Amino acid sequence: MIYQSSSITVQYIADGIAEFTFNAAGSVNKFDQQTLADCRAALEILHKDEKLKGLIYNSSKETFIVGADITEFLATFQKPEADLIPWIKQASDIFDLAEDLPVPTVVALKGFALGGGCEWSLTADYRVADTSTKIGLPEVKLGLMPGFGGTARLPRIVGADTAMEWITTGKERGAEQALKEGAVDAVVAPDKLMAAALSMVQDAIAGKLDWRKKRAAKLSPLKLNKTEATMSFSTAKGMVFATAGKHYPAPMLAVETIEKAARLDRAGAVALENAGFAKLAKTDAATAQIGLFLNDQLIKGKAKQAGKLAKKAINKAAVLGAGIMGGGIAYQSASKGVPVVMKDINDKALQLGMGEAIKLLGKLVERKRLDAAGMAKVVASITPTLSNDTVKGVDIVVEAVVENPKIKGAVLKEIESVVGPDAIITSNTSTISINTLAANLENPSRFCGMHFFNPVHQMPLVEIIRGKDTSDETIAAVVAYAAKMGKSPIVVNDCPGFYVNRVLFPYFAGFSKLVLDGADFAKVDKVMEKQFGWPMGPAYLLDVVGLDTAHHCTDVMAAGFPTRMAKVDNDPVSAMYHAQRFGQKNGVGFYAYSKDAKGKPKKDLDAASAALLAGIAALAKDFSADEIIARTMVPMINEAIRCLEEGIVASAAEADMGLIYGLGFPPFRGGPLRYADTIGLANFVALADQYAHLGEIYQVTDKTRAMAANGQVFYP
Ligand code: NAD
Repeated sequence: MIYQSSSITVQYIADGIAEFTFNAAGSVNKFDQQTLADCRAALEILHKDEKLKGLIYNSSKETFIVGADITEFLATFQKPEADLIPWIKQASDIFDLAEDLPVPTVVALKGFALGGGCEWSLTADYRVADTSTKIGLPEVKLGLMPGFGGTARLPRIVGADTAMEWITTGKERGAEQALKEGAVDAVVAPDKLMAAALSMVQDAIAGKLDWRKKRAAKLSPLKLNKTEATMSFSTAKGMVFATAGKHYPAPMLAVETIEKAARLDRAGAVALENAGFAKLAKTDAATAQIGLFLNDQLIKGKAKQAGKLAKKAINKAAVLGAGIMGGGIAYQSASKGVPVVMKDINDKALQLGMGEAIKLLGKLVERKRLDAAGMAKVVASITPTLSNDTVKGVDIVVEAVVENPKIKGAVLKEIESVVGPDAIITSNTSTISINTLAANLENPSRFCGMHFFNPVHQMPLVEIIRGKDTSDETIAAVVAYAAKMGKSPIVVNDCPGFYVNRVLFPYFAGFSKLVLDGADFAKVDKVMEKQFGWPMGPAYLLDVVGLDTAHHCTDVMAAGFPTRMAKVDNDPVSAMYHAQRFGQKNGVGFYAYSKDAKGKPKKDLDAASAALLAGIAALAKDFSADEIIARTMVPMINEAIRCLEEGIVASAAEADMGLIYGLGFPPFRGGPLRYADTIGLANFVALADQYAHLGEIYQVTDKTRAMAANGQVFYP
């Protein structure tokens, strides 16, 4: 044994050839601070070992190394930028130490080699991958760039263009693709991996492979002439600007770093990377994106836990109603392997529902994500029916009929008498209280809300609404089913609007008041899209949701929160509704819709909409971007805080993820509560106070004020 620690073992396996095995105690290998220190200790011994002729890196796990330990990031990144540079340098020095071993090195890759795992492999002279390998540098997805020398090494191995593509998109590659791009030197079957690595290191030791020449290229400036460099870097910058935009600084800084480092040796290139990494680590986008990753892990962890707790496995489902939502839910369930009965009272609806599922599957086949046999299997696992008999024997029912409490009540009552006594019953209602609907059932403990978002196949969130009588077992089984459907479930308590719509409607109310006070709705949309980063501004979103639906929801919210969300007579939403401008669904709302040359909906300004609003609003007035953002976002953040305080949602993490997954809240802002932390809670309170006179939705809770005064945050 040459070296052993809790995460690494180094030992001789043949004459002069040692094996450096990553074998962490947990389920995967990752670079936490301890593993990095162990790597340094092991490498220092190897540097002095005169018997050493060659080295193989491998992993005792199914996967090589998943990357750095992200749970350590946020606390570390509190350090000032000037301290982060030496901190990241001491880590990247270890990677240099690996690259500088006086003997040839080969890495045997399998499973994930991501982030730091990929960067470790780049220090080796040769990379052999088995067919299970997925390799890549996903750091930009955390608002960062590679920090262990990846921006210096990868361009010198695969060329600047390919390296910039890897680093700026963060997309991982399969083994064959990585081979084609020159990132790995050979791909073999999993059972041949170690033999291939051994034979490669032996060839290098025997001088059959010129490892010194290969290594020298990694230590030198990039081989690009001036014209090639100009072409390469300006193309990359153009691509990054068009795709990432100004809110995501990481990909652009990565390109600029690679560009500046092009004429430098490794030491110069890595020094630039150290500085760039430290700079990005201090950005709000990195904090938000790392937070998102951790929040997502929390949600996945809870779903996994629910899967273990659930006594009932969901192997067959039924959806009642084959409309927009029912059709989408049936498709999603079937395509993730849970057969589904789709029941409607209208044959035409069933045909439309099946047609929609077939269209979506056809697109997967077109994109080669599914083959024809796979598609046929999914289609065959959806059973359209007009009869309740076919629903017998399912494990779960998702009711998605029209949003009418009487109809839903009757449908739920009827279905309870059809299904078995332990089948779970859920409703996809968007507004009706789960406790009210539960009153129709003999056994309300097996009932809860299962609120999907439209379009079901695209929106990751499912709100699972616990009624006062819902059992823990029911919740666990429904959470597990949502996760099986590939969704991110968040459990919330029952209240008007549940969590997501309860928070959305104060935002719409803030927007409506702005318009009544003379703001131009198209300018509001532009500010909220371009500056704040929403995928759609509030007017556009209302058109997509449907002004009839929004009008109805406004009534529900007003009934639930009579003072805070009281209905405003003749506000823009009701004016649009009464003028039968329902939005995208009938071609006119705030905007007018037509089809572009490709048949996609296209929105335009419309004089009739402007005239309608002019009739109810004050004289046109120009509002600054800051005021537009404050007057729409303060009500949303306040309501999210209220939901957290009232226990509607269990944690800040779930409150943030609910809006990111359910509404498309800008990910680089991390969600409403992370955003409040970022601007500073005291600043948020001061901002809200400026608008407190506009109504209760602007007034912060006592607890928020106390938290701000005590310097507390939502993410300590
Ligand atoms: P939809 O009008 O498109 O579809 C409703 C379907 O239910 C129709 O096909 C209708 O024939 C069928 N139906 C009516 N009575 C029935 C019965 N007794 N048995 C079986 N089928 C019956 O409506 P939708 O937009 O799909 O909405 C369905 C539910 O989902 C509503 O509760 C709605 O609030 C909720 N929801 C909608 C959205 C959305 O964006 N559309 C989002 C989330 C939740």
